Amino acid sequence: MEIILAESLGFCIGVRMAVRRAEAVSSGRNPVYSLGPLIHNPQEVSRLTGQGVRVADGLGGVEGGVVIIRAHGAPPETYREAAERGLEVVDATCPFVFSLQRRAMALADEGYQVVIIGDPSHPEVMGVVGWTSGRAFVVSDEADVERLPPLGRVGVVAQTTQREDRVEALVAKLQERAREVRVEHTICRATTERQEAARDLAGRVQVMIVVGGATSSNTQKLASICRDAGTTTYHVETAADLKSEWFRGVERVGVTAGASTPDWIVKEVIGRMEEIVTGEGATGRQGERDERRAAQATLPPAGVTAVEDAAAAEQAEVPPAGDAPADAPPAGDAPADAPPAGDAPADAPPAAEIPAGDAQTRQEAEMAFKTPRIGETVEGTIVQVRPDQLLVDVGHKSDAVVPLAEMSMAPGQTPEQAFSVGQKIQVVVLGVDKQEGHLRLSQRRAREREAWKRLEEVMTAGGAIEGTVLEAVKGGLIVDVGLRAFMPASQ
Ligand code: SF4
Repeated sequence: MEIILAESLGFCIGVRMAVRRAEAVSSGRNPVYSLGPLIHNPQEVSRLTGQGVRVADGLGGVEGGVVIIRAHGAPPETYREAAERGLEVVDATCPFVFSLQRRAMALADEGYQVVIIGDPSHPEVMGVVGWTSGRAFVVSDEADVERLPPLGRVGVVAQTTQREDRVEALVAKLQERAREVRVEHTICRATTERQEAARDLAGRVQVMIVVGGATSSNTQKLASICRDAGTTTYHVETAADLKSEWFRGVERVGVTAGASTPDWIVKEVIGRMEEIVTGEGATGRQGERDERRAAQATLPPAGVTAVEDAAAAEQAEVPPAGDAPADAPPAGDAPADAPPAGDAPADAPPAAEIPAGDAQTRQEAEMAFKTPRIGETVEGTIVQVRPDQLLVDVGHKSDAVVPLAEMSMAPGQTPEQAFSVGQKIQVVVLGVDKQEGHLRLSQRRAREREAWKRLEEVMTAGGAIEGTVLEAVKGGLIVDVGLRAFMPASQ
């Protein structure tokens, strides 16, 4: 039996960041609480509990100390109440969920009736409703849309883990009912990639194993996509859930995992599958050929290594969060980098205005979300400033990331001092992060390109430029003219 891993599976950037933050704050400080399970994976939550991260159902169960807002995010009331009670908040809201909250808030501020496509009982959706001051409708199917009151201007956002085809179907339904429908693309790229990879793999195997928490929304959607592809699909939480009869007579089995499934569980599941296959081969039921194929199953080990390598690469880029993340919301109503109410239009991301039934406008809007080319310089709007990265809206389907090393800042400056939410910046597209699916950008290189261009023009025209002295060194000065330049003492 051949075991094939999906091209994209397991921990996404939002979950990985949340787990790292929890690990960082739990080492040395007590008590530490996460508001609800940090992620939808009971085994990983239990591992973190062993490290001192307790799970509280709400702030009522917190008796002081540190409170972690999980990757799903929370409504503004949670920040307010935590501040009133003097609790230290560590905000591990996924950047993509944060972006979704902001877009919903901006739509509400602009007078749109916000409609959220998602599961009304999911904490991410409940948090987003809170950011619209409770004014959003939540729909999860066509019948929900039918039940809505008469609609005028509608602004649509989707839970980050929704299936794209479901969102498209419900947007089409809303277009029949509303005077105007404006759609914000809020499904995160990690979700889309894992869904596309699962669909592709399900079409090539006889059985799919989907690994992840029973209550994990994105894992459930992966399982439903595989089933919709006509493939026998089993959703398992751990290796213990596997049954040997599932693999009898099966030649190819695919494995995928939800965005909240840690690598160690995926490895255990694959290890157990290999044991089952080897055991069956030994009974002679599948014969020598299958035994040999199991022994040679190249993809599982290679795939697992890929998961580790990608995680290591990402770790190298994103410094682990410290004990007191600078982006934790201040005492007050909202996270530090949330825009004030009414400030939304200036930093609202470009959105697709899609009048009902206007297919051409829809096509144009979709074109506006095409992927920028690698090496291209584009303008983006900062939607979140973190100690280790900027989240930037460049009009792509998902947000894009400028890592710390690709920011241009004065010596000693922090990203929070150098940048602000809503600020427009020029960025160079470095590529797509294969594991996480987001675009990688460089603001430093865009600034250097611009500086070179300006310097050439000034040199050709024989003009002067202004710079800032950064430091005095032996023989002259280091000057910032958009690039680090050297001015000899003789000049
Ligand atoms: Fe964030 Fe997407 Fe992961 Fe959810 S699935 S935590 S939105 S990256």
